[in-house]
Amino acid sequence: MSQSSATDVPEVTINSMGTKEVEFDNLEGYEYVVVGSGAGGGPLAANLAHKGHKVLLLEAGDDQGSNLNQQVPAFHFRSTEDENMRWDYFVKHSQMRLSRERTRK
Ligand SMILES: Cc1cc2nc3c(=O)[nH]c(=O)nc-3n(C[C@H](O)[C@H](O)[C@H](O)COP(=O)(O)OP(=O)(O)OC[C@H]3O[C@@H](n4cnc5c(N)ncnc54)[C@H](O)[C@@H]3O)c2cc1C
Repeated sequence: MSQSSATDVPEVTINSMGTKEVEFDNLEGYEYVVVGSGAGGGPLAANLAHKGHKVLLLEAGDDQGSNLNQQVPAFHFRSTEDENMRWDYFVKHSQMRLSRERTRK
């Protein structure tokens, strides 16, 4: 029987929506699991790791490390439009005039 460790490569599958799912069946060895590598999670995970803790940082999507929009800080705004990285949020504006006038976004 093989022993799992924190360096095991997780299993990646594609679900019925065409989205990649990563399955971790063993979190042994990790002291912290941080979900989301945004302004909060990224620095938190980095600081914990700098202090010598074993940290698993999970970020949505796949590896975009070789994408120039990811690599070049000046391309930050391009990255928000990059179809490989963007979240397709949308806003549904109210049809009611008074409600619409109260929120001018
Ligand atoms: C256009 C814009 C401009 C802004 N400008 C400024 C500014 O100039 N100065 C300032 O101080 N603040 C600014 N903000 C606000 C700032 O970006 C947020 O307050 C900050 O990013 C919030 O940090 P967070 O870690 O809570 O969330 P986020 O930074 O949004 O991080 C959340 C992370 O979780 C990931 N995630 C989501 N779901 C999952 C999942 N299921 N599994 C794994 N990962 C997941 C996301 O991909 C994301 O990386 C701006 C925000 C916007 C939208």
